[in-house]
Amino acid sequence: MRWTEHAVVIAGGGPAGMMLGAELALAGVDVAIVERRPDHELAGNRAGGFHTRTIEVLDQRGVADRFLAEATLHQAVPFGTTMLDMRDLPTRHPYFVGIWQAQIERIMADWLAELPVRIYHGCEVTGLAQVDTGVDVALADGGTLRAGYLVGCDGGRSLVRKAAGIAFPGWDATRSNLIAEARTTEEPPAGMRNDASGVHAIQILDDGRVRIVTTEREVRTGAAPTLDDVRAALVAVYGSDFGLHDPTWVSRFTDATRQAASYRAGRVLLAGDAAHVHYPAGGQGLSLGVQDAGNLGWKLAQVVRGISPESLLDTYHAERHPVGARILRHTMALGAMQRRDDRTDALVGLVSELAELDEPRRRLVTTSSGLDIRYDLGEGHPLLGRRMPDLDLLTTEGPVRTYELLHDARPVLLNLGAPGALDLGTWSGQVRLVQATYAGEWVLPVLGVVPAPSAVLIRPDGYVCWAGDGSEEGLGDALAAWFGMGPTG
Ligand SMILES: Cc1cc2nc3c(=O)[nH]c(=O)nc-3n(C[C@H](O)[C@H](O)[C@H](O)COP(=O)(O)OP(=O)(O)OC[C@H]3O[C@@H](n4cnc5c(N)ncnc54)[C@H](O)[C@@H]3O)c2cc1C
Repeated sequence: MRWTEHAVVIAGGGPAGMMLGAELALAGVDVAIVERRPDHELAGNRAGGFHTRTIEVLDQRGVADRFLAEATLHQAVPFGTTMLDMRDLPTRHPYFVGIWQAQIERIMADWLAELPVRIYHGCEVTGLAQVDTGVDVALADGGTLRAGYLVGCDGGRSLVRKAAGIAFPGWDATRSNLIAEARTTEEPPAGMRNDASGVHAIQILDDGRVRIVTTEREVRTGAAPTLDDVRAALVAVYGSDFGLHDPTWVSRFTDATRQAASYRAGRVLLAGDAAHVHYPAGGQGLSLGVQDAGNLGWKLAQVVRGISPESLLDTYHAERHPVGARILRHTMALGAMQRRDDRTDALVGLVSELAELDEPRRRLVTTSSGLDIRYDLGEGHPLLGRRMPDLDLLTTEGPVRTYELLHDARPVLLNLGAPGALDLGTWSGQVRLVQATYAGEWVLPVLGVVPAPSAVLIRPDGYVCWAGDGSEEGLGDALAAWFGMGPTG
């Protein structure tokens, strides 16, 4: 029997699990990922890209260029019958990053290979038992891993979520789709098509294979689909199956929409699809999961390293559950707008007209891009709880971008006022003090121009947890709340 200990074990090495693994490793935590697949090769591509805040989060770790080098950038996203222009979003990345999930996972796996993350490939988590000091993680090969904390990043059917007894309330499926990647003997018509049953899409992939998504006439959620099911669906929609053969992937997804009642049960936490599932309209799932990981990683690291009390972990649910709930509603609305009947068409037409107006467009793209996220950190400067913008700063060592300061996943106190005005005291080992100047405007998504703060305390995930107004008032409390007890701890 294998009995190995790790401070944190992550079940599932998809996008959420890999991001969390990277965050924990950067924070110096002993972390292992248990992944059922024998390697990172994917049979098929679900996601076709991710949104602005996700590429910003990757930019904060210095790896954004790896994804951008392989991506197609889309400066507008579909909404109803219109396209929402993103070009005026106040960010360095005003676009949807179009890149297949297989590429995303390969790039993430290459990044992980540079970090001290242990990966058990071809290894399945089959059960868990929580004890006072940790979690015993049972594996399909009969072995056991002892973990201080276990994070379920094991997808929508999450065994970890079920074994931890976490409820998954929501809405049952009202529609199901088949998805397949295969070869054809005749060239099918590429593009999207809508009919009474829903949306159908055919894409020709770079290697000549086709990617097919069809809406089924009847909702099916049970048995795994076969290539014959896809052929029949193609005939029903297009009048031909185009000689479909040699599938690399056949699968089904639905518009079932559910969210974990709690993202934490003791020493077990959930992130990514394990915590929320929804219809893929709007392309949000992977983004949500990567950002869950960005929120949880540094908090879990500080708890594991004894810097912060366990209660810091409760802020993970408090912050990320509302974000997930909002996106779930957004995707339910987008899914409903794909129905085809005269009344829905009328509604979609009306809503699309409104979405073309500047203010509604701006609202919608700041939500879909993830730039409108505001964690409830109380009243104060408009930056509080919002993402730190990526400013061009000037320091005595030369120019630097704010996101470059976050590459090592450590908190930063950015002093933009008089040099020496702020003192970190015993937090100086934990938080990095950067003295800089910034001459430009502070432009935030939704809010526009806001008053310049004299200093900001930035969490490792890039969210502002204190903003100064010329004095140090509240700084000590913020440091203690987020980064341990400091002078007295
Ligand atoms: C058709 C379609 C299109 C989509 N398009 C987009 C898009 O454009 N943009 C977007 O952001 N999202 C999109 N999504 C959603 C996106 O694919 C998912 O949200 C994303 O993959 C979730 O990542 P994850 O890491 O949470 O889970 P997963 O990607 O499901 O990864 C879970 C991992 O856990 C492993 N695993 C499972 N159980 C165990 C176990 N017991 N033990 C060990 N390992 C286990 C699995 O092998 C897998 O590697 C789409 C989804 C679909 C279906």
